[in-house]
Amino acid sequence: MPGFELFGDLERKEVNDVLDNGVLMRYGFDGMRKGHWKAKELESELQNTFQSKHVQLVSSGTAAVSVALAAAGVGAGDEVIMPTFTFVASFEAIMMLGAIPVLVDIDDTLCLNPEAVEKAITPKTKAIMVVQMCGSMADMGALKTIATEHNLILVEDACQAIGGTYKGKPLGSIGDLGCFSFDFVKTITCGEGGAVVTNNKDYYINADHYSDHGHDHIGNDRGAESHPFLGYNFRISELHAAVGLAQVKRLPEFLEIQKRNFNILREALSQIPEVTFRTVPEGGEESCAFLNFSLPDLEIATKVSEAFKTNGIDVCWNYYNNSWHYIRKWEHLKDLKSLYPISEEIKKGLSNLNKQDFSKSDYHIGRNISCLIKLSWTEDEVLSRALKMAKVIRDHV
Ligand SMILES: *Cc1c(COP(=O)(O)O)cnc(C)c1O
Repeated sequence: MPGFELFGDLERKEVNDVLDNGVLMRYGFDGMRKGHWKAKELESELQNTFQSKHVQLVSSGTAAVSVALAAAGVGAGDEVIMPTFTFVASFEAIMMLGAIPVLVDIDDTLCLNPEAVEKAITPKTKAIMVVQMCGSMADMGALKTIATEHNLILVEDACQAIGGTYKGKPLGSIGDLGCFSFDFVKTITCGEGGAVVTNNKDYYINADHYSDHGHDHIGNDRGAESHPFLGYNFRISELHAAVGLAQVKRLPEFLEIQKRNFNILREALSQIPEVTFRTVPEGGEESCAFLNFSLPDLEIATKVSEAFKTNGIDVCWNYYNNSWHYIRKWEHLKDLKSLYPISEEIKKGLSNLNKQDFSKSDYHIGRNISCLIKLSWTEDEVLSRALKMAKVIRDHV
């Protein structure tokens, strides 16, 4: 997945354009910038990449999720349904707005289970946040139907699925709003950065203003702009956008390498009867950023994952005991360890989290191994990795 593996002259050239004129900020300073508008250019590239009418760059993927929710009017006391398997950013972004994360089970797609979503809906539910984990997706058709029937906003976190598609549409462009991250380990990187994409003009204008202190961005005197509503600072810098601009142009090349490496590994593992692969919904195409497979049970998955490590097979994880991606080890969330007081509404909303039954999620995550697909591997390296992985698995099943 990581775009940083293929960093080079193109990235340097774009950054040097910015250093040459010294305008490191994305707004204003028109006279000094010698025509360089890296953030604006990257936004227009991303409109094509994600086939969306509007793109607002922000400072991170976490910021993108908060800005997307805020742009759609999600705030204090609203419930947002999210999966048990995701990145900690999901609940952080929700709680930052005073909203309440409602965690529900995943299914064999490793993403939101539509039935569990429907059961979790209450009169306070305002949005469903689907997280397209490890390069693939939830059953988007089912989730869209539920969102429409219950009049809920569908926010799509596609941070880990850049380049994946569902029924021909880029992941991230299917919900009412989509969120991307360009942090250092994502498929394309800015160093730090993110984007909100949407076809809804009002949401876009809200995101544009909100991510820059509520500035209305009318005219060319920043100091004289008015503030139609409160905002915050989630701006991306020109330096970061410059790196992203070079990277996005290489995305087709990155995706091709990912796919080649993914297919070699998948083919080798599919010869083993005990190995099964995650369900990809009909009409879905994975981005191939990760290869996910399941073994018969948690015990075997744990042993195989340990044996991978001792045999030099890196970047493969069983997430059951992982503190970044799975609810079991999110003690800081379950115990609400916060530097500052948390609202009674959020406290009440999360009070059952320690007791809730997530055995269905445990079943899928316990058996799963998720392997990052690197861009820097040569074909020979992938072939020998595939043989090694298959041998380790066969030794343990
Ligand atoms: C990386 C990631 C984020 C957050 O992105 P940052 O840019 O690191 O803030 C959010 N959600 C998912 C699923 C991610 O993988």
